[in-house]
Amino acid sequence: MARIDLNHIRHAYGAHPKSESDYALREVHHTFEDGGAYALLGPSGCGKTTLLNIISGLLHASHGQLLFDGKDVTRLSTQERNIAQVFQFPVIYDTMTVYDNLAFPLRNRGVAEPEVDRKVRETLDMIDLADWAKRKARGLTADQKQKISLGRGLVRSDVNAILFDEPLTVIDPHMKWVLRSQLKQLHRRFGYTMIYVTHDQTEALTFAEKVVVMYDGQIVQIGTPAELFERPRHTFVGYFIGSPGMNVLPVAIDGRRARLGDHVLDLPGTPETDGNAIELGIRPEYVRLGTSGMPVSIHKVEDIGRHKVVRARLEGREIAAILGEDDHVPAEPHVSFDPAGINLYERSWRVEMGA
Ligand code: ADP
Ligand code: MG
Repeated sequence: MARIDLNHIRHAYGAHPKSESDYALREVHHTFEDGGAYALLGPSGCGKTTLLNIISGLLHASHGQLLFDGKDVTRLSTQERNIAQVFQFPVIYDTMTVYDNLAFPLRNRGVAEPEVDRKVRETLDMIDLADWAKRKARGLTADQKQKISLGRGLVRSDVNAILFDEPLTVIDPHMKWVLRSQLKQLHRRFGYTMIYVTHDQTEALTFAEKVVVMYDGQIVQIGTPAELFERPRHTFVGYFIGSPGMNVLPVAIDGRRARLGDHVLDLPGTPETDGNAIELGIRPEYVRLGTSGMPVSIHKVEDIGRHKVVRARLEGREIAAILGEDDHVPAEPHVSFDPAGINLYERSWRVEMGA
């Protein structure tokens, strides 16, 4: 397994990119540590597949350099990079048996037959297809085929990294959970470098130690699930992660205070900015609903089991608050913000608050 360095990678699919918007990847400068389990999370079209294909070599970036363990692999082919990649849709040989599909990548590399047999059986157990070993792949269901694809990625132990591009899309929800847990276990056991692409936050947060959030051709934050929740670096992260996402409200800054319409809020520190276009981010979990603070009008209460989501208007803006299952909505509702949950943003990027 290898450490992967992406040095100032940019990519445009068109031949003559003129502006930033012509780039599918605008600038990616980041290291994937050897043996890390990463999720690449972002909405459709943000550049996840482009980035993954650049790492595997299916695509050559228009700018920048790629290193595996310090060695320049920018111009090497997929084969030479020795990467296993699992795609959204099954890539298998229909006319081969399930067993031979898994054995193929190993035989291809000249692995001795007893070792091939050992690895294939181990992988068949892992993907729960041991009973199907002798069957031709052709007659299998879509999720069985995808499990073979997954197995073909996992069967090799000599790879530099295993890349997954939304591999569980075609798998039913229960099996999804099972396979994801197995991938996690494998990671713990063998310490593979794994990069797992998804647009589903639950999938990303449960699989990865580090989540890489992408937006509009850029990596906007890399962090643990807790970091992404508590300190979103970009308003997009606040909005994309969490359910509902972070509330974002325009404010004016005055020293250690923020003005929100007619209201003045104490901040946890003095923001390191004197800019004007400042926004305050507060997650619904940190919005207190009670009888003091800023008056709001409530227009919807959604009961979602363990808690309620309250939708209200504050100073003409939408705001969401989370209320405990047994908490009541007050007759004259007001909100206040828990200072621990306040983040400030300037042009969408988080600004530090000093003491
Ligand atoms: P994601 O995997 O996050 O959904 P992609 O990496 O597939 O995003 O796409 C990023 C951007 O690049 C999108 O705007 C997409 O339309 C564009 N794109 C992807 N593949 C191609 C291609 N082969 N030719 C031209 N544009 C492409
Ligand atoms: Mg994609």
